[in-house]
Amino acid sequence: MLTIQSTAQQFIDQEHHYGAHNYHPLPVVLQRGEGIHVWDVSGKQYVDFLSAYSAVNQGHCHPFILQALYDQAKNLTLTSRAFYNDQLGPFEEYVTDYFGYNKVLMANSGVEAGEAAVKLCRRWGYDVKGIPSNQAKIIFVEGNFWGRTLAAISSSTDPSSRVGFGPFMTGYEIIPYNDLTALDAALKDPNVAGFMFEPIQGEAGVIVPDEGYLRGVRERCTRANVLMIADEVQTGIARTGKRLACDHENVKPDILILGKALSGGVFPVSAVLADDEIMLTIKPGEHGSTFGGNPLACAVAKAALEVIVAEDLSRKADHMGKLFRERMHALASKNPLVKLVRGKGLLNAVVINDHPESSTAWNICLALAENGLLAKPTHGNIIRFAPPLVINEQDMDASCSIIESTMTSFT
Ligand code: PLP
Repeated sequence: MLTIQSTAQQFIDQEHHYGAHNYHPLPVVLQRGEGIHVWDVSGKQYVDFLSAYSAVNQGHCHPFILQALYDQAKNLTLTSRAFYNDQLGPFEEYVTDYFGYNKVLMANSGVEAGEAAVKLCRRWGYDVKGIPSNQAKIIFVEGNFWGRTLAAISSSTDPSSRVGFGPFMTGYEIIPYNDLTALDAALKDPNVAGFMFEPIQGEAGVIVPDEGYLRGVRERCTRANVLMIADEVQTGIARTGKRLACDHENVKPDILILGKALSGGVFPVSAVLADDEIMLTIKPGEHGSTFGGNPLACAVAKAALEVIVAEDLSRKADHMGKLFRERMHALASKNPLVKLVRGKGLLNAVVINDHPESSTAWNICLALAENGLLAKPTHGNIIRFAPPLVINEQDMDASCSIIESTMTSFT
C-alpha cells in the first residue's frame, strides 16, 4: 500500500479541512514537475501518466512555454476586452491558421468554451437556419463529459454529475454514442441546430468509436444542415496521435472546442473555432469573459502550440501509443485481471476484469503510485493512461514494466 509521509499528511489534512470535498485525490502531494516527471514533498519521483487529464501534453514546466509566460508577465497580463492588446490579434491569426477556421472565440476553461459553442449553435440555429424562437435543439450522446456547469450537466447521463442539481436546461436530446442510426432518427427533427460530441470519449473511459463514425457524423450533419460540434478539449492538441482526433478520419467539424493542452498545462486557456457564418452571429455585448483572450494566455497558448509542431508531438504520441498498447495487449493475454486495452495515440485505458463499482482500479492506482507511476481510475474498473507526449521509448518501456509488475501483484 502507498506510504504517506507525515509532511504529505499535513497537506492532505489541510485540504480536507479547508477545501470543499468535491474531489477524491490519490494521497500523493506533488511539489515539482519537469517533463514526464513529478516529485512529491518527500522528494519521491513519479512518472505522470495522467498529465492533468491531458492538459500537460507538452510535459511539465516546459522551458519554452514558461519563457513565454515570464516574458509576457513582465509586460502586460490583463486588459479585459474593453481595450485591444498586442497579443490577442497575433494569437487569433496563428490559431485560426493552425486549425483552418475563419475565427476564434477565446475563453478560459474547457466547460466555458463548451458553453460558448452551445450558445453559438443556438444563435446560428435561429439566425441562419431559421429555427423558430426558443425551439432550437442540440443532440448529445450518452456518456458525454464536458464539465460541471449547469448547461454541461444538463446533458450528462452520469448520476454523480446530476443528482441533486436540477432543474436542468431544456433543448437537449441524448442519443447513444457511436450509433449513426440513432443520429439519423434524431436529425429528422427540423429544429435540431447541432450535434455535440467527443471524437473519443475521455472521461467515460476512453471510448473509441468505430472507424467511420466521425465521417458518418460529418455527412449526416451536412445533409441535415446541422452543426457538427467536436469537443476536442481532451482529445485535441496531438493527444491521440494527430493534431485533432477528427483528423483520423479527415473530417472538419463546424465548431471546434479546445482547452486543456492549449495551455501547455501552464495557464487556463480555451477556445472555440468556427467560420464566419457561425461566429459572426454573436455581436458585441452578447457574450464575453473578463479573462478570455488575455495577453498572458495568448502568449502561453501560442508557445504551447509551437511546441507541438517543433517537437513533432503528434507523431510521438502515435508511436508511443502503439508501443504502450502492444505491451498492454501482451499483458492482457497472460493476466486475467486485464480485460481490455483501448485508445489512440497516448490516450489509453485498461479495463479491469471487475465490476464498475469495485475498488480494484483505485487500489491498483495506489500500488502504481507506490511503484512510482501516477494514474487515476475513470470508473471503478477503468484506468486511464495518458502520459505527457514528450515521453521517450526508454521511459515508456520502464513505465510499462511498472504497470505489468503492479498488475501481476494483484492477480
Ligand atoms: N470537455 C472534455 C472532453 C473534457 O474532458 C473536459 C474536462 O475533463 C471538459 C470539456 C471541461 O474542461 P474544464 O475542466 O477545463 O472545464
